[in-house]
Amino acid sequence: MSVVPILQYHSVAENPPEWAAPLTVRPDRFDEQLEHLAHAQMSVVPLRRLVSAIRGGPPLPPRAMVLTFDEGFADFYWTVAPMLAARELPATLFVVTGAIHPPGGRPSGSRLPPAMMLNWRQVAGLDAYGIEIGGHSRTHPALDTVSGRTLRSEIEGCKRDLEDALGHEVTSYAYPLGYHGPTVRRAVRQAGWDSACATSDALATTSDDPLRLCRLTVRHDTPISLYDAWIHGRSARLGPPPESLSTWAWRLLRRTHGPGH
Ligand SMILES: [Zn+2]
Repeated sequence: MSVVPILQYHSVAENPPEWAAPLTVRPDRFDEQLEHLAHAQMSVVPLRRLVSAIRGGPPLPPRAMVLTFDEGFADFYWTVAPMLAARELPATLFVVTGAIHPPGGRPSGSRLPPAMMLNWRQVAGLDAYGIEIGGHSRTHPALDTVSGRTLRSEIEGCKRDLEDALGHEVTSYAYPLGYHGPTVRRAVRQAGWDSACATSDALATTSDDPLRLCRLTVRHDTPISLYDAWIHGRSARLGPPPESLSTWAWRLLRRTHGPGH
């Protein structure tokens, strides 16, 4: 078993909307973090390579780690992708398909507050360039508080949106807000997604369930010392937490009172 930190980013921008600011990393700080990965001689591998290693495929290189980006903010195209390209680093971009708009047109709609989001032409361009495009639902609900047709739309519908737009299969999913349970994971598996990332601020390992991959969330104020500890497999729990009674009680409470953020 080896530890493979998966970092979760959102936006990389100078002036984010207020709601996104806590999860937005400034471009100079992002550059500093990428520089740090190079210095530490980390091997940034595609998420698919980790999933393959979990399923018994080729072993990963030493110091393997994964970069992921959630939502589909426009700055991924203008800021993040060129910085990754300059260092030849792979990444996965998880998009909320209801927030992606046709060039010049309106998106179908999501629960995300207003922000500059990618358009479908940019998503296709990133895909063609080699960024892995993954699904992050259609509207970004807490999936463990929805059911039936809504749950299917957010999981199967999101996959259809992406496959129609890109013309090939997509297999990596990320749970909006990180929430999932056995019912959600079953729906994800049945829809044909073969991996799914959560946000448990824990380190992933090659012996984890590929539908419960833990990520470490990089925030606007994450100190480089903590960042360094994470990439070296320290300062965070290994693998997903057990699904305890308190998790179920918490979920029931949120279902009763509506999704929180
Ligand atoms: Zn999200």
